[in-house]
Amino acid sequence: FVTGLVCIGIGFIIGWFSRGSTIHNSDTKADRNYTSKQRLAGTDNVKELVQHIAQQWRDHGLDKVEITPYDILMSYPNTTKQNRVEIVVSGGSPVFTAALVEKPLDADGNQSDIIPPYNSFAPAGVAEGDLVYVNYGRIEDFMYLNNLSIDITNKIVIARYGKIFRGDKVLNAQRFNASGVILYSDPADVNTNGTSDTYPNSWWMPETGLQRGTVGGDGDLLTPFYPAREYAYRLAMDKISIAVKIPSQPIGYGDALHFLSDLSGDVVPNDWKGGLNITYKIGPGFVNKTRKAKLTVNNYLKVVTVENVIGIITGEVEPDRYVLLGNHHDAWVFGAIDPLSGTATLTEITRVMGKMKQSGIRPKRTIVFCTWGGEEVGLIGSTEWVEEYMKVLYERAVAYLNVDWAVESINNLAAGASPLLQDPLYQAAKIVPNPDSSSPYKTLYDIWNQKNPGDGTGEPSVYYSLGSGSDMATFYQRAGVPSIDMYYTFDHKQWNILYYPLYHSAYETFHMFTSFIDPSFNYMLTMGRLWGVLAWKLADETLLSYDVRRYPKAISDFIATLKTQFGPLWQANNVNIGALESASANFTLAAKNFYDRLQSVDKKNPLAVRMANDKMMQLERVFIDPEGLPGRPIYKHVMFAPSKFDSYKDNSFPGIVDTMFEIQNNNASSWDLLKQQVYVATYTIQSAANSLDPIG
Ligand code: GLU
Ligand code: CA
Ligand code: ZN
Ligand code: ZN
Repeated sequence: FVTGLVCIGIGFIIGWFSRGSTIHNSDTKADRNYTSKQRLAGTDNVKELVQHIAQQWRDHGLDKVEITPYDILMSYPNTTKQNRVEIVVSGGSPVFTAALVEKPLDADGNQSDIIPPYNSFAPAGVAEGDLVYVNYGRIEDFMYLNNLSIDITNKIVIARYGKIFRGDKVLNAQRFNASGVILYSDPADVNTNGTSDTYPNSWWMPETGLQRGTVGGDGDLLTPFYPAREYAYRLAMDKISIAVKIPSQPIGYGDALHFLSDLSGDVVPNDWKGGLNITYKIGPGFVNKTRKAKLTVNNYLKVVTVENVIGIITGEVEPDRYVLLGNHHDAWVFGAIDPLSGTATLTEITRVMGKMKQSGIRPKRTIVFCTWGGEEVGLIGSTEWVEEYMKVLYERAVAYLNVDWAVESINNLAAGASPLLQDPLYQAAKIVPNPDSSSPYKTLYDIWNQKNPGDGTGEPSVYYSLGSGSDMATFYQRAGVPSIDMYYTFDHKQWNILYYPLYHSAYETFHMFTSFIDPSFNYMLTMGRLWGVLAWKLADETLLSYDVRRYPKAISDFIATLKTQFGPLWQANNVNIGALESASANFTLAAKNFYDRLQSVDKKNPLAVRMANDKMMQLERVFIDPEGLPGRPIYKHVMFAPSKFDSYKDNSFPGIVDTMFEIQNNNASSWDLLKQQVYVATYTIQSAANSLDPIG
């Protein structure tokens, strides 16, 4: 009966998504409305969107819908004293100034309240000096220059966007004492074939387009660790910590050409060449030695309110167990892909589940719909909310399912997940039809496995490195809630680029989405089905479908990788990982035994069911260490933390990996710290094994 109900629920989800959906229905076309104005955090336009979404969710019949405001520190560009990226005659007047605004290319984009381009949390400042090209600005790019004895000190660097999180490019430049960073989009990454038919005629970035984006860290700077509620104690402005100390500003490739084409110095190595029709050189400095690069940034900080919308369908049997679905609604400009393709999809799920509720179908556990504000400027809305409800989430959260943008292209599904959620995700994907109904692969799972297979696993690829590129970060890395992040994407073998070309530009419009991305909204529909089915399954299945054996498998694979990388060095320095390996073996055995016992749990015995589910749900939490990582107390997950050099990615065993980096690259004698981190990892993994014990 119970499994039957799950099936009925899921059947409803699939069915209702195809009938009168807000995604398809032209009167209510959610994302047409959502994308009609710029939606930058803290502006009136985003407040209006929040009211609109909250009303839609109420109309859809959720049990409760509330708006949760937080007063936080935001960063804006000065609209009267605009940021400037210039070539000047040394100490004197500009000979070239990069565009101050992104030129509107169609009627949709011609709106007066678009905020000029900037990098949020780039500090105000002026830098002038010789320019150096640093490729993608990765740590290895700077080390390459260092090996060539090219000194970056007091130079302005120009880095192309792509490969890693932009904030890490600026931090890397700072590590090498640069005075400022010009970030630009190279045609090789945003107009790969070099076509002249760019936006508004295709999804390729024109020369006038550019990528905005934060270079700051995560959460509100005035209230680290704790929620920015009205009773909050806020740090004085001179006590806040902003990691990025040097100015930066984004430009497009039409403007970047003027800077790059005049650089002197050595020709770059092949893999540093971009797509401009010039000979890429490193610098330092221009051929015309009287000319310098100049960067003027007038960004300022201001306290504003960001709001989340939280909607609830209360669970029938276990109202105190939560399955959370999350997405953000703030955008850099119109946000047709990022994030509003996800927001419209989430609203569609509220409509479908609202209907299910009206038909008397309620999940066993509570479903929480979240749409976050202030994601683009440092995951602020989600971080403050998680900080506020940390203790409750710790006790009660089953899973957090994030979709930032739902669809950036229609080639295949991409998903990152905690090892615990891999199996529920597969099972959900087996229920959802392939969006391409003419394909011989009938389910989403089949086509996913066909297009994006895991490495020799026989299953579709799921990456464990969730990173801090979107709102799952705080849930996963700080609260230990098993999390997922997923989207439909392009073929990354065909286009070796990080994101869709118009990412964070003013050309990310409804016209773009409906012309070049997903004209029939069919892939948004598929993402809605997948997200909805997965949420419903986790909220309604009697025994959670987590496969706990995935975790020790992932861990023993990571240990094997570490051994290959560092084994001999560890031996030479008396680092013994014997205990770590035996803790991992103990965890493997405990997980196997738990899994075997699970098969015979009496599903009619609510206590037995709750005991088993609690152990699975709490397993992720065991990896949370209140002490946090060395020097990074905010990150508390012993297995996963954002990489220090690319926060879009997680390192596994971050305490060990970070320390090894210091030892190998900065000649640090941190062997004692390494031994301590091996010990912490050993203790944590053994604790994971203990937590699955039937009695303990
Ligand atoms: N998703 C945003 C970006 O990639 C914010 C990421 C963050 O602040 O960590 O720029
Ligand atoms: Ca806070
Ligand atoms: Zn986003
Ligand atoms: Zn974004």
